[in-house]
Amino acid sequence: MVRCLNPHGVGHDNPDGTVCCQHCDFLVEGARISAYQVISFIGAGSYGYVYKVRESAPLSRILALKVLRLDQFDDKIRASFFQEARRIANMQHANILPVYNFGQLASEQPYLVMEYAPRTIKDLFHKADGSRRPAFAEELVSYVQQAAAALHYIHHAGLIHQDVKPGNLLIGRNGQLLLADFGTTLYLGVQTHASLGEVTGTASHMAPEQWQGNPRRESDQYALAICCYELLTEHLPFVYKSLKEMWNAHFSEQPPSLQQWNPRIPAEVAAVLLRAMAKEYKQRYRSILDFANAYEDAVNTAQQRYVCHNCGQQNRSGAQRCSNCGTSQDNRTCLYCGAGVRFGQRCCSVCGRLTIPLLLAEHSPLQGIYVHRGRYMINYVLKQAVESRVMTAVASDTQQQEQRVFLKRWECADGPLAQRARDIAYYERATAAFTQLRYPLLPAVIDRFAESKYYYIILSYIDGESIEARLQKLLHPLSEKEVVRYIHFLLNALIFLQQQRPPLHHYDISPTNIIIERTHNRPILTGFQVQPPPSTPTHNPPAAAARSRTTRKLAVSPYLPIQDKPYDQRTCIYALAATMHHALTNVAPPHYPAYPPVRVLNPTISLALESILSRALFEDNALRYQSYEAMQRDVRSLLGTY
Ligand SMILES: [Zn+2]
Ligand SMILES: [Zn+2]
Ligand SMILES: [Zn+2]
Repeated sequence: MVRCLNPHGVGHDNPDGTVCCQHCDFLVEGARISAYQVISFIGAGSYGYVYKVRESAPLSRILALKVLRLDQFDDKIRASFFQEARRIANMQHANILPVYNFGQLASEQPYLVMEYAPRTIKDLFHKADGSRRPAFAEELVSYVQQAAAALHYIHHAGLIHQDVKPGNLLIGRNGQLLLADFGTTLYLGVQTHASLGEVTGTASHMAPEQWQGNPRRESDQYALAICCYELLTEHLPFVYKSLKEMWNAHFSEQPPSLQQWNPRIPAEVAAVLLRAMAKEYKQRYRSILDFANAYEDAVNTAQQRYVCHNCGQQNRSGAQRCSNCGTSQDNRTCLYCGAGVRFGQRCCSVCGRLTIPLLLAEHSPLQGIYVHRGRYMINYVLKQAVESRVMTAVASDTQQQEQRVFLKRWECADGPLAQRARDIAYYERATAAFTQLRYPLLPAVIDRFAESKYYYIILSYIDGESIEARLQKLLHPLSEKEVVRYIHFLLNALIFLQQQRPPLHHYDISPTNIIIERTHNRPILTGFQVQPPPSTPTHNPPAAAARSRTTRKLAVSPYLPIQDKPYDQRTCIYALAATMHHALTNVAPPHYPAYPPVRVLNPTISLALESILSRALFEDNALRYQSYEAMQRDVRSLLGTY
């Protein structure tokens, strides 16, 4: 006699050689199915029962075998099961649970043979005593990336997983994440889940559009974000007994703040998850990879605050003190105002700005050096792309009571002196037009000079923060009234530039290049671009030529229209509107095929402002505002209505 593996109770006795129990829907211990011998029952999946099996010699691998449940059994489902099984078997991805074989039992119940991966992502995070603990944000980075890579792969194949939850994020032999139980869920769909009585497990992760029977790729992103929510807080955002209440919660209830459950979760990480959990799928990240990258970026930003300034230890996010040297006061100060900053503090308690500026090249060797025969000392270097060969820094003027200035430097050709002289003359000419400008919304040029192989320009310092930094600090959009005021000011500045003889243009309008002044709350337009000097190709070694190609590619800002040629004021109108679209939504381009109307991403914006922005954001420049003045007229009349 052999016993079945029914997990409820002791199991039934069956004659030797039985495969399926004669009294229930479970396999019999020791049963032989093709080359596999059943060892034990593992658990119930969404549509079938999973058993641990041993493959026969010579491989003798321990594998998992999943049998479709009898209550799920009909001809249509059976046909799709095989179709899906073939599809999964064809999927080759390091983060997808491999399927090795499939077939059917004598009872015609179909089965799949897969890799045996008994641990899920939930089993990874436990305390010394073995009890579960919430994950640290940084511990999830690699798993989020792996899950996203697998989901991107199946999205790319035109599929949607529809059942992303921690139980389906398995951990493989080498610690890699393996996405499981997909494909099958595609044809079973929502209703089958409900009929299986497993709605709580799945309903907890289901996006609003999936409840309505219109799952999209973004539904998997929503579900993955809830997995992170769950792993970081040990709570689900929505917990209700009835399906109807769950449905309502996913549709209209805001998820409770993550920090409410776990105050160590960095604010920027929480913001990424909440965006991926937006009710409206268009408000989520554009792709699951974008979501994973945003998650990683947020963790990296947060982690900078937890590097101990005493001993250099990288601490866990949310740490109150250094785990290595024990300090909670490591003498860090605000770079803007000099106020003392607590270990891990995000914003300065005196001036309110981010304690670690968005654009900061940490440990730059240029920090503290003097230029222009000792006149300017570099205080800190702002981040720079190596390829661009432009460096921007905040410096102090030793001849003007250490007054702060912006310093910008271009690297000239490293070749013969004559070439360098030509480059210097080029920068001299290229920056000449800016030196005469005196306008309150533009930084003033204080000084220009060449020193060794660099050309420098010194600009007046603006005490404020860029729109980009402000968004990063607030983690939510700027108010409409504020933004309309900025547009109004900036159009005046652009009109001023347009009136110069010859007219000047700023083709690099972006949230980084608009600094909001602290005292007057005015937007200052910075970051005028100077094209690199026309270099003589014969003097360029191949490596440098390759580098200059990269430079051109990098120089294209996502705030610029794709097709404009040549650039003119309509290009600037687009870039200004794209920047303000970002400020109003806190969602950066690149965007959908075309810019979504601003109200899709932020429904609180007025129709009037939406129509101004939409008109400025036409890809076809003939449809845009044709001049700054035309746009300014609409902005002015809108300004009058507040
Ligand atoms: Zn039985
Ligand atoms: Zn330390
Ligand atoms: Zn400060």
